Amino acid sequence: MTNGAPAFVPDYSRQTRLAAVGPEGQARLSASRVLVIGAGGLGCPALVYLAGAGVGHIGIVDSDVLEASNLHRQTLYDAADIGQPKVQLAARRIRALNPDIDVACIDHALTAEDIVPLFASYDLILECTDDMRSRYLCSDAAVITGKPVIFASVYQYEGQMHTYRPDQNTACMRCLWPQEPDPAQLGSCEISGVLGPVPGVLGTLQANEALKLLLDLPGKLGSELVLVDLTDMEMRRIRTRRAAHDCRAEAELGLSARRSNEALERSFPSLQAAVLAGYQLVDLRERDEIDADPLEVPALWIPSGAVLDHAASFANSRWLLICAHGARSRYAAERLRERGYANVHSLHGGWVGMQMGVATTP
Ligand SMILES: [Zn+2]
Repeated sequence: MTNGAPAFVPDYSRQTRLAAVGPEGQARLSASRVLVIGAGGLGCPALVYLAGAGVGHIGIVDSDVLEASNLHRQTLYDAADIGQPKVQLAARRIRALNPDIDVACIDHALTAEDIVPLFASYDLILECTDDMRSRYLCSDAAVITGKPVIFASVYQYEGQMHTYRPDQNTACMRCLWPQEPDPAQLGSCEISGVLGPVPGVLGTLQANEALKLLLDLPGKLGSELVLVDLTDMEMRRIRTRRAAHDCRAEAELGLSARRSNEALERSFPSLQAAVLAGYQLVDLRERDEIDADPLEVPALWIPSGAVLDHAASFANSRWLLICAHGARSRYAAERLRERGYANVHSLHGGWVGMQMGVATTP
């Protein structure tokens, strides 16, 4: 409230008019705490609809700054915002949309240490990072805390969504995909491309599913995977099944492996600082990425897909693996450590993160 402007009074009449919502449903939304992980293409629409619906407390997790290449799909932001931390920009926008709600910002990537207590303080989580490693981490934390998570991902013109619901004993990520995949083998928006509205549709579906869960509306997703193909406009529901494993034991193993892996990430203010600290640099990016954005200092070049073929190179000295955002380098460092190369580290946040100054020491 500034300059004596009248206090904002939210008007939820368009949704409370629904028989299944009503004033009780609205009160339930106001009392709800929802955590949205990732304020990108999926998170932007999800945040807008949750804030508009009057979800009383929204937490936003994002450690990136806005890049020009985000703008075609990340609808909360403006060109003038480039270079700003997305979590702050997103919070400002949804606070402006609904001043009646409470918004919390978490500006660092979640770790195995901090995710469990964070999940414990929310009712529902939306996983909107489109990052496979984040999805496994969230699944493990959800299994341990018994909190529901709505997952979504996109690939070019397609997307998928599923919900982990502890109340329904549904499949965890490790039930559906037991092996964490190599990020180098996966598509991402950066590498494969994506049409802007595709994450828009999937993020909107996540928000819709979140409202159904919070309001206990009919038709909530349970043991199903929803596949959306926006080329032929087909939406399919596929039954999922629990694996023959103990989800809790798998989740504990996953979190503990993650904790030890987190120690393999390193942050530096610059690559020169890493060289001065005695690290040999290895650039894992593809040729076109290197041409578009070369490192500031010379580095050995081994594309991420070929790292294990060159494992013997890592026998001596201290190595710092570098990719664009730190996912491929972290995965490669983990695999090399499994083979006994203990002096291999991954640049946290990658070369893009370092240039943006967002890489923080974990
Ligand atoms: Zn499981």
